[in-house]
Amino acid sequence: MKFNSKTIHGNQNPDKAYASVMPPIYQTSTYVIPEAGVKKAYGYSRTANPTRTAFENAMASLESGDAGFAFASGMAAIDAVMRLIKPKEEVIVSRDLYGGTHRLFNKIGAINAITFHFVDMMNLDEVSSKINEHTKMIWAETPTNPTMQILDLQQLAEIAKQHRLLFAVDNTFASPYLQRPLELGADIVMHSATKYIGGHSDIVAGVLVVRDEELANQIKFIQNATGAICGPMDSFLALRGIKTLHVRMQRHCENTAQIAHFLANHKKVSKVLWPGFNNHPNHEVAKSQMHDFGGMLSFETKDDSLVYSKVLLKRLTYFVTAESLGGVESLAGIPALMTHAGMSGEQRQSIGISEGMIRLSVGIEDVEDLIQDLAIALDF
Ligand SMILES: *Cc1c(COP(=O)(O)O)cnc(C)c1O
Repeated sequence: MKFNSKTIHGNQNPDKAYASVMPPIYQTSTYVIPEAGVKKAYGYSRTANPTRTAFENAMASLESGDAGFAFASGMAAIDAVMRLIKPKEEVIVSRDLYGGTHRLFNKIGAINAITFHFVDMMNLDEVSSKINEHTKMIWAETPTNPTMQILDLQQLAEIAKQHRLLFAVDNTFASPYLQRPLELGADIVMHSATKYIGGHSDIVAGVLVVRDEELANQIKFIQNATGAICGPMDSFLALRGIKTLHVRMQRHCENTAQIAHFLANHKKVSKVLWPGFNNHPNHEVAKSQMHDFGGMLSFETKDDSLVYSKVLLKRLTYFVTAESLGGVESLAGIPALMTHAGMSGEQRQSIGISEGMIRLSVGIEDVEDLIQDLAIALDF
């Protein structure tokens, strides 16, 4: 089955009770069993819930995996992965990282005596140089936020395989429409389903997908034992989002490409970070591992001050100022004040985030309206 059909049919079957096309929202905590001691597929909703199962199976299909696990948030999903790591073990992590992941690894991971090495993952020698007998996992995020760098997943997977390490990929920015890490050799793919999977800015949820049965059993155990599960209503909404993932993503990508070119040719703009440009340092990797270049971009103005960027954002109409990304509506943000406010200015500078950098999550409105919005806002 090809990808677009998978969003609608992949591992998705009519419900067993009345053959409803969409699974009902099984808003129940428990299930009647015929007799004490009998084990059925569904006994208690932390362990399993049919609406959640439907969402988990659909995600497994989209990511070309065998087992999916839905969590209460993206962070809960990452936390479940972190629980695969034991004290004194080490993890190599891409330096450009979602802020919440950085906080979880640094603060909670450190309490558990796990060492995290944050490296520039475009430099594979730097990755290799951190591997020792304690290393357990490589964790990568691509495209990176907000600098839009692209990591070579196939090469990272090879390094992981050589050293028998787990290789986990946060695929939130790309979505499985653009990139499927398990097909490129990853062991675990993670999503904040809050973003493109849900797609409508109306849920917070997370997902893990794996192929290996032993790994699936471990994650299933952690999910049930720790209990940060995705509820039935959110599972239903995520499934509803999945049905249009391909058409939304196609439009996100088309609009973003046009906006990237508009900004690149604007006299007030000094830099546009978008992997679709020929001169983007990882353009070739992006072309080979991604189906398109995504719905996110960042740019710098010639002024590049916080004051200037704040005024610019206020002048926008369609692009509202908000955290998050991946919904149908266009959003704009200033990483230095929002997603990356937890870092010092020096830290931000070292990974290429300028003070006034603006990040756009391009929605699926008419692109003419979006471009006009930016044109008017930049004209001051
Ligand atoms: C939002 C996000 C997360 C965290 O997901 P939540 O659903 O907010 O917990 C992790 N990684 C990336 C890349 C994200 O954008």
